[in-house]
Amino acid sequence: MAEVLIIEDDDRIRPLLMRSLRERGYAVASAASGMAGLSLAVDSRPDLVILDLGLPDVDGTQVLSMLRAVSDVPVIIASARDDDPSLVSALDAGADDYVVKPFTIAQLEARIRAVMRRTDGGRSVRRVLTVGDLEIDVAARRAALDGAELDLTPREFDLLAFLAERAGTVVTKRELLSEVWQQAWGGSDKTVDVHLSWLRRKLGESAAEPRYLTTVRGVGVRLAAPGG
Ligand code: CA
Repeated sequence: MAEVLIIEDDDRIRPLLMRSLRERGYAVASAASGMAGLSLAVDSRPDLVILDLGLPDVDGTQVLSMLRAVSDVPVIIASARDDDPSLVSALDAGADDYVVKPFTIAQLEARIRAVMRRTDGGRSVRRVLTVGDLEIDVAARRAALDGAELDLTPREFDLLAFLAERAGTVVTKRELLSEVWQQAWGGSDKTVDVHLSWLRRKLGESAAEPRYLTTVRGVGVRLAAPGG
């Protein structure tokens, strides 16, 4: 049974969510503050976290950043905030998806299923992708270049793995937004550009002197072995 942790301070929404998800076969735990939720997430290792942004002690985005420092658990943000900066900062902090309040349980559950499908796929299949001297262990979520492990954020890893799966072909920013950020409905190219430049730096290269990561102006980006 999948275990879901709900971090939500609203005393009407929290029990409602708990009951609805229990009825649908999930094991559910909950916390009413950011710090309580964080310690529960670390101790009880849930399969998925549903996180509110407006919490009484620390902002949900901060909870997410702290959680991401220690865990890759899938996180769905459930918030009344629907402005672009809130969405972008939550997704940049490592959220896997975002639902805007008010949402239906059916919608939330569909997103839970989608997020779990993606992460279960990653967990059960051990695959190592190789591009030149770059090695990406998809299941272990580790990447190394010339034998030295790269220190990547969860998002940078997702980005690198996605590009490595399509090594040698040009991937558009639109594809990256929809597949890596799950923002089929919008999102900003700038988010992609920023993460690409961070990833580039960690690969020890620059846009001016690319080795693995080449920008194809007006089209997208391609990961390929140098000289390949
Ligand atoms: Ca709240």
